[in-house]
Amino acid sequence: AIILGIESSCDESAAALIGSDRSILAHRLAGQEDAHRPYGGVVPEIAARAHVQILTPLIQAALDDAGLTLDDVDAVAATAGPGLIGGVMVGLVTAKALAMAAGKPLIAVNHLEGHALSPRLADASLEFPYLLLLVSGGHCQILRVDGVGQYRRLATTIDDAAGEAFDKTAKILGLGYPGGPKVEALAKTGDARAVPLPRPLLGSAEPHFSFAGLKSAVLRAAQSGSHRPEDIAASFQAAVVDCLIDRLEKALSGSADEGESPRTLVVAGGVAANGAIRSALEALANRHDMGFVAPPLWLCTDNAAMIGWAGAERFALGLTDPLDIAARPRWPLDPQAEAARGAGV
Ligand code: ATP
Ligand code: MG
Ligand code: FE
Repeated sequence: AIILGIESSCDESAAALIGSDRSILAHRLAGQEDAHRPYGGVVPEIAARAHVQILTPLIQAALDDAGLTLDDVDAVAATAGPGLIGGVMVGLVTAKALAMAAGKPLIAVNHLEGHALSPRLADASLEFPYLLLLVSGGHCQILRVDGVGQYRRLATTIDDAAGEAFDKTAKILGLGYPGGPKVEALAKTGDARAVPLPRPLLGSAEPHFSFAGLKSAVLRAAQSGSHRPEDIAASFQAAVVDCLIDRLEKALSGSADEGESPRTLVVAGGVAANGAIRSALEALANRHDMGFVAPPLWLCTDNAAMIGWAGAERFALGLTDPLDIAARPRWPLDPQAEAARGAGV
């Protein structure tokens, strides 16, 4: 089958044509960095308006790249949440219109499921179950992935996401937006032991994350004027690595009592593009005799190939959606864990 994937949940407009045999027939991405840069971050209204202008020609361009028309497509998949609701609605309405016009089924994809399944697009040998570190701009979670639509959340952040911490650190250091890759580049020239920074929740009993305290410490270090920016960047990145590894160690020591224990450690989401984080995770997997899978960099940050692929996985199981399905600003992968946290558990 061939699936048209559409992504518009944040500041990337994207369209892709993905085969269920993992062929990437086309993928197009249009960032909106220039529109948001003057504001130092993503402005929801500007993003939604940009998606309106960009998406339709972008989808046509992707079809042209693949030498296909809408008639050749078996289903239309679009991000239906979570994310900035204006942008999500633009992408979902566009997908509905195309699905209706061409008489094809609609697949409403959870953006996080797109990230979570993206490693399976890149690596055909990756089988369920796997232990997933989902690290992105809005999320930092450890999940057990047992199958399509089967996610058990073992941990989440109690405040900021890891990507958010990278972006704020970039802002504090005056590196601009988007920040993650800039912090990583600057960290390469710095000394990771130069600035003492906290490792929030290190060693705590539950495998949850916290990055707000780290961000405040970065701000204090920068304001003190006694550290080089490259040393702050390197020390910050090292602190994030330590937190991720410690929390994953904790999750690994607890996940064995829940049925078949995952034999593969997988990382996905924009922060998974970070080289220091990838190598630390690979070393962790080696220590635990686990396989390690990380998608190629372009598949880590937001894109439509992962949405098309999640669509292909759902299509293969007959999981299509009605045309009146609503966009969702919030949409947890594991609603039970989310409800439990909401109740203070
Ligand atoms: P979510 O998926 O949670 O809705 P999002 O879609 O905005 O959030 P992604 O596109 O998956 O997030 O990831 C973007 C995040 O990844 C940003 O916070 C960005 O700073 C971070 N990021 C990208 N590249 C790197 C890198 N090389 N090192 C660290 N962080 C990075
Ligand atoms: Mg972006
Ligand atoms: Fe994302």
